[in-house]
Amino acid sequence: MSTRVTIPDYHTHTSRCGHAAGMSKDYVAAALATGLPAIGISDHMPLAGHPDPGVSMAPEDLAGYVAEVRELKRRYPGFVLLGIEADYFPGREEDIRAVLESQPFDYVIGSVHYLDGWGFDDVGNLAGFAERDIDAVYAQYFELLGDAAETGLYTIIGHLDLVKKFGHRPTRDMTRALDSLLRRLSGSGVIVEINTAGLRKPVGEVYPGPEVLEAVRAHGIGITFGSDAHAPGEVGWEFVAAADLARGIGFDVRAELVQQPGGLARVEYRRL
Ligand code: ZN
Ligand code: FE
Ligand code: FE
Ligand code: ZN
Repeated sequence: MSTRVTIPDYHTHTSRCGHAAGMSKDYVAAALATGLPAIGISDHMPLAGHPDPGVSMAPEDLAGYVAEVRELKRRYPGFVLLGIEADYFPGREEDIRAVLESQPFDYVIGSVHYLDGWGFDDVGNLAGFAERDIDAVYAQYFELLGDAAETGLYTIIGHLDLVKKFGHRPTRDMTRALDSLLRRLSGSGVIVEINTAGLRKPVGEVYPGPEVLEAVRAHGIGITFGSDAHAPGEVGWEFVAAADLARGIGFDVRAELVQQPGGLARVEYRRL
């Protein structure tokens, strides 16, 4: 059996965000070397209300980022897509929309990394878990993801159960909260990604994990794959294992974002 990776990677970062290594051309080179069919660059959008040079690109870097990736799109037509990972902050929808509409993004990954200003996925903020009820953290996080999806700003919802990153699991049954979230995602037409970064983190499993993915499948929600690479060597990270997992759950893993003239890409499933 071949281990060649045949799935596009739609979640990658660059040094512009302040905590990743390599330029977009290095990620594209890595994708070519790995034999990926396509790559999307999706660096962290300037944060609306949380300016921090170590967390996202600066507002004045956005135009340069877009120009750089568009140049790669011209050099590798059909192989490179221009994406962005845009945090969702409640109440800042119009600020986020203004930035997203200012540039010709092919797709937008909507992510939640903050709960009331607490950056829960930053190892430096780990103490915050001890101060909170973990079930309430999960509930608030799922609620925000549903809100994010319903804004219509996002193509893909990023790392659906990121709160588990350091191994914090809910103590109560989350079936109902998850079901309610997935109804909202399904109703708003967003896609969910299988994000393999979790395999590099203490939790040691993809986001979202297998049980959540079963529920995603049951709700008829489409998927894409993302390595969340913060270094070129992480492009396509563990995609063979991730594809096996997705296939085992019954997903069509041939998902591909197809560019739409004058609008965000939509996901299509390639025929064999
Ligand atoms: Zn990052
Ligand atoms: Fe993220
Ligand atoms: Fe990311
Ligand atoms: Zn991410």
